[in-house]
Amino acid sequence: MTKLVIIVPCYNEEEVLHSTARQLKTILAGMIDSGLITQDSRICFVNDGSKDKTQDIIENLCKSDMYFAEIKLAANFGHQYALLAGMNTIDCDAAITIDADLQDDCAIIPDMVRKYLDGFDVVYGVRNRRDTDTFFKKNTAVLFYKLMEFMGVKIVFNHADFRLLSKKALTMLGEYKERNVFLRGIIPLIGLNSCKLYYDRAKRSAGESKYPLKKMLAFAWTGITGFSTFPLKIITFTGALCIMAGLMWWIILCGMYFTDREIPSAGIILSFVVFFSGIITLSLGIVGEYTGKILSEVKQRPRYQIDKRINI
Ligand code: UDP
Ligand code: MG
Repeated sequence: MTKLVIIVPCYNEEEVLHSTARQLKTILAGMIDSGLITQDSRICFVNDGSKDKTQDIIENLCKSDMYFAEIKLAANFGHQYALLAGMNTIDCDAAITIDADLQDDCAIIPDMVRKYLDGFDVVYGVRNRRDTDTFFKKNTAVLFYKLMEFMGVKIVFNHADFRLLSKKALTMLGEYKERNVFLRGIIPLIGLNSCKLYYDRAKRSAGESKYPLKKMLAFAWTGITGFSTFPLKIITFTGALCIMAGLMWWIILCGMYFTDREIPSAGIILSFVVFFSGIITLSLGIVGEYTGKILSEVKQRPRYQIDKRINI
Protein backbone atom coordinates (compact mmCIF):
# COMPACT_ATOMS: atom_id res chain seq x y z
CA MET A 1 0.00 0.00 0.00
CA THR A 2 1.15 3.47 -0.86
CA LYS A 3 1.51 6.33 1.55
CA LEU A 4 0.68 9.37 -0.54
CA VAL A 5 1.22 13.00 0.35
CA ILE A 6 -0.32 15.77 -1.70
CA ILE A 7 1.84 18.87 -1.34
CA VAL A 8 0.11 22.21 -1.80
CA PRO A 9 2.24 25.38 -1.78
CA CYS A 10 0.26 28.37 -0.51
CA TYR A 11 1.04 32.05 -0.67
CA ASN A 12 -1.83 34.32 0.31
CA GLU A 13 -4.46 31.82 -0.78
CA GLU A 14 -7.25 32.60 1.72
CA GLU A 15 -9.84 32.92 -1.05
CA VAL A 16 -9.36 29.42 -2.42
CA LEU A 17 -8.14 27.35 0.52
CA HIS A 18 -11.50 26.12 1.87
CA SER A 19 -12.68 24.96 -1.51
CA THR A 20 -9.29 23.41 -2.35
CA ALA A 21 -9.16 21.57 0.97
CA ARG A 22 -12.69 20.21 0.44
CA GLN A 23 -11.97 18.97 -3.08
CA LEU A 24 -8.62 17.40 -2.21
CA LYS A 25 -10.05 15.73 0.88
CA THR A 26 -12.84 14.13 -1.16
CA ILE A 27 -10.25 12.72 -3.56
CA LEU A 28 -7.91 11.53 -0.81
CA ALA A 29 -10.74 9.90 1.17
CA GLY A 30 -11.98 8.20 -2.01
CA MET A 31 -8.53 6.73 -2.66
CA ILE A 32 -8.21 5.56 0.97
CA ASP A 33 -11.67 3.94 0.85
CA SER A 34 -10.87 2.10 -2.36
CA GLY A 35 -7.61 0.80 -0.84
CA LEU A 36 -5.38 2.65 -3.30
CA ILE A 37 -3.44 4.48 -0.58
CA THR A 38 -2.84 4.11 3.15
CA GLN A 39 -4.86 5.65 5.99
CA ASP A 40 -1.94 7.86 6.97
CA SER A 41 -1.78 9.56 3.57
CA ARG A 42 -2.02 13.32 3.91
CA ILE A 43 -2.69 16.64 2.23
CA CYS A 44 0.19 18.85 3.28
CA PHE A 45 -0.07 22.61 2.85
CA VAL A 46 3.23 24.45 2.66
CA ASN A 47 2.57 27.96 3.85
CA ASP A 48 5.13 30.08 2.05
CA GLY A 49 5.12 33.10 4.36
CA SER A 50 1.54 34.18 3.63
CA LYS A 51 0.47 37.53 5.05
CA ASP A 52 -3.30 36.99 4.87
CA LYS A 53 -5.48 34.49 6.78
CA THR A 54 -3.92 31.45 5.09
CA GLN A 55 -2.13 30.33 8.28
CA ASP A 56 -5.32 30.50 10.42
CA ILE A 57 -7.29 28.57 7.81
CA ILE A 58 -4.64 25.84 7.55
CA GLU A 59 -4.33 25.56 11.34
CA ASN A 60 -8.10 25.16 11.70
CA LEU A 61 -8.15 22.54 8.94
CA CYS A 62 -5.34 20.60 10.65
CA LYS A 63 -7.14 20.78 14.01
CA SER A 64 -10.47 19.64 12.66
CA ASP A 65 -9.27 16.93 10.32
CA MET A 66 -6.46 14.41 10.49
CA TYR A 67 -6.13 14.33 6.69
CA PHE A 68 -4.49 17.75 6.73
CA ALA A 69 -0.95 18.65 7.68
CA GLU A 70 1.18 21.77 7.40
CA ILE A 71 4.73 22.88 6.89
CA LYS A 72 5.01 26.59 7.65
CA LEU A 73 8.00 28.33 6.15
CA ALA A 74 9.60 31.17 8.12
CA ALA A 75 9.17 33.70 5.31
CA ASN A 76 8.16 33.91 1.65
CA PHE A 77 10.80 31.85 -0.17
CA GLY A 78 8.94 31.40 -3.45
CA HIS A 79 6.94 28.64 -5.14
CA GLN A 80 9.89 26.40 -6.10
CA TYR A 81 11.40 26.45 -2.61
CA ALA A 82 7.98 25.82 -1.04
CA LEU A 83 7.62 22.72 -3.23
CA LEU A 84 11.15 21.59 -2.34
CA ALA A 85 10.52 22.13 1.38
CA GLY A 86 7.50 19.84 1.12
CA MET A 87 9.24 17.17 -0.94
CA ASN A 88 12.43 17.16 1.18
CA THR A 89 10.66 17.07 4.53
CA ILE A 90 7.90 14.53 4.14
CA ASP A 91 8.40 10.79 4.42
CA CYS A 92 6.11 9.00 1.98
CA ASP A 93 6.04 6.45 -0.85
CA ALA A 94 4.84 8.98 -3.39
CA ALA A 95 4.28 12.74 -3.40
CA ILE A 96 2.06 14.78 -5.68
CA THR A 97 2.56 18.53 -5.96
CA ILE A 98 -0.36 20.71 -6.99
CA ASP A 99 -1.00 24.48 -6.85
CA ALA A 100 -3.44 25.75 -4.24
CA ASP A 101 -5.77 27.31 -6.83
CA LEU A 102 -6.52 23.87 -8.36
CA GLN A 103 -6.13 25.23 -11.89
CA ASP A 104 -4.62 21.82 -12.51
CA ASP A 105 -7.26 19.13 -12.51
CA CYS A 106 -7.08 17.28 -9.20
CA ALA A 107 -9.51 14.67 -10.55
CA ILE A 108 -6.58 12.93 -12.28
CA ILE A 109 -4.76 12.35 -8.98
CA PRO A 110 -6.11 8.76 -8.58
CA ASP A 111 -4.93 8.03 -12.15
CA MET A 112 -1.50 9.38 -11.25
CA VAL A 113 -1.36 6.97 -8.30
CA ARG A 114 -2.45 4.10 -10.58
CA LYS A 115 0.38 4.97 -12.96
CA TYR A 116 2.76 4.93 -10.00
CA LEU A 117 1.47 1.49 -9.04
CA ASP A 118 2.06 0.40 -12.67
CA GLY A 119 5.74 1.15 -12.09
CA PHE A 120 6.23 4.77 -13.11
CA ASP A 121 8.45 6.83 -10.82
CA VAL A 122 7.54 10.16 -12.38
CA VAL A 123 4.04 11.04 -13.60
CA TYR A 124 3.77 14.41 -15.33
CA GLY A 125 0.48 16.29 -15.41
CA VAL A 126 0.35 17.91 -18.84
CA ARG A 127 -2.05 20.64 -19.93
CA ASN A 128 -4.17 19.67 -22.90
CA ARG A 129 -5.51 23.08 -23.59
CA ARG A 130 -4.80 26.50 -22.18
CA ASP A 131 -8.02 28.15 -23.33
CA THR A 132 -8.61 29.47 -19.84
CA ASP A 133 -5.29 31.31 -19.67
CA THR A 134 -5.10 34.87 -20.92
CA PHE A 135 -3.88 35.38 -24.49
CA PHE A 136 -0.63 36.80 -23.13
CA LYS A 137 0.04 34.01 -20.62
CA LYS A 138 -0.81 31.26 -23.11
CA ASN A 139 1.45 32.60 -25.84
CA THR A 140 4.39 33.57 -23.65
CA ALA A 141 4.26 30.11 -22.06
CA VAL A 142 4.26 28.35 -25.45
CA LEU A 143 7.10 30.60 -26.63
CA PHE A 144 9.08 29.76 -23.49
CA TYR A 145 8.71 25.98 -23.94
CA LYS A 146 9.69 26.26 -27.64
CA LEU A 147 12.70 28.41 -26.75
CA MET A 148 13.86 25.94 -24.10
CA GLU A 149 13.47 23.09 -26.57
CA PHE A 150 15.44 25.05 -29.19
CA MET A 151 18.25 25.63 -26.69
CA GLY A 152 18.49 21.93 -26.05
CA VAL A 153 16.94 21.86 -22.59
CA LYS A 154 15.09 18.66 -21.73
CA ILE A 155 11.66 19.89 -20.66
CA VAL A 156 8.13 18.48 -20.84
CA PHE A 157 5.95 20.70 -23.03
CA ASN A 158 2.99 22.28 -21.20
CA HIS A 159 3.89 20.66 -17.90
CA ALA A 160 4.15 22.91 -14.86
CA ASP A 161 4.62 21.63 -11.34
CA PHE A 162 1.70 19.22 -11.14
CA ARG A 163 3.38 15.83 -10.90
CA LEU A 164 3.82 12.65 -8.92
CA LEU A 165 7.26 11.55 -7.75
CA SER A 166 8.00 8.18 -6.19
CA LYS A 167 10.20 7.87 -3.11
CA LYS A 168 13.08 6.85 -5.38
CA ALA A 169 12.65 9.99 -7.50
CA LEU A 170 12.35 12.15 -4.38
CA THR A 171 15.63 10.76 -3.02
CA MET A 172 17.36 11.43 -6.34
CA LEU A 173 15.90 14.94 -6.46
CA GLY A 174 17.49 15.57 -3.04
CA GLU A 175 20.91 15.23 -4.67
CA TYR A 176 20.37 18.36 -6.77
CA LYS A 177 21.61 20.99 -4.36
CA GLU A 178 21.52 24.04 -6.63
CA ARG A 179 20.21 27.37 -5.31
CA ASN A 180 18.46 28.58 -8.45
CA VAL A 181 15.75 25.97 -8.50
CA PHE A 182 13.78 25.22 -11.66
CA LEU A 183 12.10 21.90 -10.95
CA ARG A 184 10.73 21.50 -14.48
CA GLY A 185 14.31 21.32 -15.71
CA ILE A 186 15.68 19.15 -12.91
CA ILE A 187 13.09 16.35 -12.90
CA PRO A 188 13.72 15.26 -16.53
CA LEU A 189 17.46 15.12 -15.71
CA ILE A 190 16.79 12.47 -13.08
CA GLY A 191 15.62 9.99 -15.69
CA LEU A 192 13.65 6.96 -14.39
CA ASN A 193 10.42 5.61 -15.79
CA SER A 194 8.07 8.47 -16.55
CA CYS A 195 4.72 9.03 -18.24
CA LYS A 196 2.30 11.86 -18.93
CA LEU A 197 -1.34 12.34 -18.00
CA TYR A 198 -3.31 15.02 -19.83
CA TYR A 199 -5.91 17.40 -18.40
CA ASP A 200 -7.62 20.69 -19.19
CA ARG A 201 -6.35 23.65 -17.25
CA ALA A 202 -9.08 25.60 -15.45
CA LYS A 203 -9.31 29.30 -14.62
CA ARG A 204 -8.16 30.45 -11.20
CA SER A 205 -11.39 30.21 -9.18
CA ALA A 206 -10.61 33.10 -6.83
CA GLY A 207 -7.77 35.37 -5.82
CA GLU A 208 -5.14 36.51 -8.24
CA SER A 209 -2.03 35.00 -9.78
CA LYS A 210 1.02 35.03 -7.51
CA TYR A 211 3.18 35.08 -10.63
CA PRO A 212 3.05 38.66 -11.94
CA LEU A 213 5.01 39.42 -15.11
CA LYS A 214 8.20 40.36 -13.23
CA LYS A 215 8.29 37.07 -11.30
CA MET A 216 7.37 35.11 -14.43
CA LEU A 217 10.27 36.61 -16.40
CA ALA A 218 12.69 36.04 -13.50
CA PHE A 219 11.53 32.42 -13.33
CA ALA A 220 11.96 31.93 -17.08
CA TRP A 221 15.45 33.42 -16.87
CA THR A 222 16.32 31.03 -14.00
CA GLY A 223 15.22 28.18 -16.24
CA ILE A 224 17.29 29.34 -19.21
CA THR A 225 20.48 30.19 -17.32
CA GLY A 226 20.32 27.11 -15.12
CA PHE A 227 20.02 24.62 -17.95
CA SER A 228 21.50 26.11 -21.09
CA THR A 229 24.69 27.81 -22.17
CA PHE A 230 23.10 28.69 -25.50
CA PRO A 231 23.14 32.48 -24.81
CA LEU A 232 26.94 32.23 -24.39
CA LYS A 233 27.21 30.38 -27.69
CA ILE A 234 25.34 33.24 -29.38
CA ILE A 235 27.99 35.67 -28.06
CA THR A 236 30.86 33.48 -29.31
CA PHE A 237 29.17 33.06 -32.69
CA THR A 238 28.51 36.80 -33.05
CA GLY A 239 32.17 37.54 -32.26
CA ALA A 240 33.39 35.04 -34.85
CA LEU A 241 30.96 36.49 -37.40
CA CYS A 242 32.26 40.05 -36.83
CA ILE A 243 35.89 38.90 -37.20
CA MET A 244 35.05 37.22 -40.50
CA ALA A 245 33.20 40.33 -41.69
CA GLY A 246 36.24 42.45 -40.77
CA LEU A 247 38.61 40.10 -42.63
CA MET A 248 36.42 40.09 -45.73
CA TRP A 249 36.24 43.85 -45.59
CA TRP A 250 40.04 44.03 -45.60
CA ILE A 251 40.24 41.70 -48.60
CA ILE A 252 37.84 43.99 -50.45
CA LEU A 253 39.91 47.05 -49.41
CA CYS A 254 43.12 45.34 -50.63
CA GLY A 255 41.38 44.58 -53.93
CA MET A 256 40.41 48.22 -54.24
CA TYR A 257 43.99 49.33 -53.41
CA PHE A 258 45.58 47.08 -56.06
CA THR A 259 43.07 48.13 -58.72
CA ASP A 260 43.87 51.77 -58.00
CA ARG A 261 40.41 52.64 -56.78
CA GLU A 262 39.92 55.34 -54.22
CA ILE A 263 39.51 53.97 -50.70
CA PRO A 264 37.32 56.03 -48.33
CA SER A 265 39.14 56.53 -45.02
CA ALA A 266 35.85 55.94 -43.11
CA GLY A 267 35.77 52.48 -44.72
CA ILE A 268 39.22 51.65 -43.31
CA ILE A 269 38.31 52.87 -39.82
CA LEU A 270 34.99 50.97 -39.86
CA SER A 271 36.69 47.74 -40.95
CA PHE A 272 38.99 47.98 -37.91
CA VAL A 273 36.03 48.74 -35.64
CA VAL A 274 34.16 45.66 -36.90
CA PHE A 275 37.22 43.39 -36.68
CA PHE A 276 38.25 44.41 -33.16
CA SER A 277 34.65 44.44 -31.89
CA GLY A 278 34.59 40.84 -33.12
CA ILE A 279 37.78 40.05 -31.17
CA ILE A 280 36.32 41.56 -27.98
CA THR A 281 32.95 39.81 -28.41
CA LEU A 282 34.59 36.47 -29.18
CA SER A 283 36.83 36.84 -26.12
CA LEU A 284 33.76 37.55 -23.97
CA GLY A 285 32.08 34.48 -25.40
CA ILE A 286 35.10 32.29 -24.65
CA VAL A 287 35.37 33.62 -21.07
CA GLY A 288 31.64 33.05 -20.80
CA GLU A 289 31.95 29.45 -21.93
CA TYR A 290 34.48 28.85 -19.15
CA THR A 291 32.16 30.55 -16.66
CA GLY A 292 29.41 28.21 -17.85
CA LYS A 293 31.66 25.26 -17.12
CA ILE A 294 32.46 26.65 -13.65
CA LEU A 295 28.73 27.06 -13.03
CA SER A 296 28.05 23.44 -13.85
CA GLU A 297 30.93 22.34 -11.59
CA VAL A 298 29.70 24.52 -8.73
CA LYS A 299 26.21 23.07 -8.97
CA GLN A 300 27.63 19.61 -8.32
CA ARG A 301 24.67 17.90 -9.92
CA PRO A 302 24.88 14.12 -9.77
CA ARG A 303 26.65 12.84 -12.88
CA TYR A 304 24.44 9.76 -13.12
CA GLN A 305 21.62 8.08 -11.27
CA ILE A 306 21.30 4.33 -10.77
CA ASP A 307 17.80 3.00 -11.26
CA LYS A 308 18.37 -0.64 -10.43
CA ARG A 309 21.15 -3.13 -9.65
CA ILE A 310 21.06 -6.83 -10.36
CA ASN A 311 23.48 -9.33 -8.77
CA ILE A 312 25.73 -6.52 -7.54
N1 UDP B 1 3.15 30.32 -4.51
C1 UDP B 1 4.01 30.17 -3.42
N2 UDP B 1 4.94 31.14 -3.18
C2 UDP B 1 5.05 32.26 -3.96
C3 UDP B 1 4.20 32.38 -5.09
C4 UDP B 1 3.27 31.39 -5.34
O1 UDP B 1 3.94 29.18 -2.71
O2 UDP B 1 5.90 33.10 -3.67
C5 UDP B 1 2.16 29.27 -4.78
C6 UDP B 1 0.73 29.75 -4.93
O3 UDP B 1 0.08 29.87 -3.69
C7 UDP B 1 0.14 28.67 -5.81
C8 UDP B 1 1.31 28.26 -6.71
O4 UDP B 1 2.47 28.71 -6.04
O5 UDP B 1 -0.27 27.56 -5.06
C9 UDP B 1 1.24 28.83 -8.10
O6 UDP B 1 0.91 30.19 -8.07
P1 UDP B 1 -0.18 30.81 -9.04
O7 UDP B 1 -1.36 29.90 -9.13
O8 UDP B 1 -0.50 32.21 -8.57
O9 UDP B 1 0.60 30.88 -10.41
P2 UDP B 1 -0.04 30.86 -11.90
O10 UDP B 1 -0.99 29.71 -11.96
O11 UDP B 1 -0.71 32.17 -12.09
O12 UDP B 1 1.15 30.66 -12.78
MG1 MG C 1 -2.41 29.19 -10.69
